[in-house]
Amino acid sequence: MNRLVPVTNTEDVFSEYRNSPIGLLLEYHNLGRAPDVYTAAQLLIGMCMDNRKHLRIPDNFSFIIRTGGANLRYSEFKVSYAIAVGGVKSIALIGHTQCGMVNLVARRNQFIQGLVDSAGWDKEWAEEHFMHFAPMFEIGNETDFVLSEAKRLRLRYPKIQVAPLLYRVEDNLLYLLRET
Ligand SMILES: [Zn+2]
Repeated sequence: MNRLVPVTNTEDVFSEYRNSPIGLLLEYHNLGRAPDVYTAAQLLIGMCMDNRKHLRIPDNFSFIIRTGGANLRYSEFKVSYAIAVGGVKSIALIGHTQCGMVNLVARRNQFIQGLVDSAGWDKEWAEEHFMHFAPMFEIGNETDFVLSEAKRLRLRYPKIQVAPLLYRVEDNLLYLLRET
């Protein structure tokens, strides 16, 4: 049931990701590989907007789209741009532990009260806003979501390599996910 696969040396990287920008991402972030020089992006990273995550990657290495929960469903034009114009052939989709987009309904009252107190919203607008958008942005479970989102992206962009990964905020490392 444990689908997380730690990467502590280059042999841990799944063979399909070795010699690809996904393997390089894991080497830079987890294994301390020295930064190489890039003049063009090699990769598109989709990751959560959460403030607890910082990737160790070289300059110019990657496009990064940050959204709640690494959900790229509403960022498709930007994904297409990175592929068509940016020339990337790989996408790393990085979910993370303790993600705020899991079980949004538990933070409903905090969300509404926060908009009222901090942003000056009317309570009714804030309630409507939450009710309208929470179902679109709820991801359920970090790992399941990133696996299903990777499958969706592979169908949408069949020639692009898509790797689902998990960032553990507990140790700030990236993990591969075993797909069944
Ligand atoms: Zn998150």
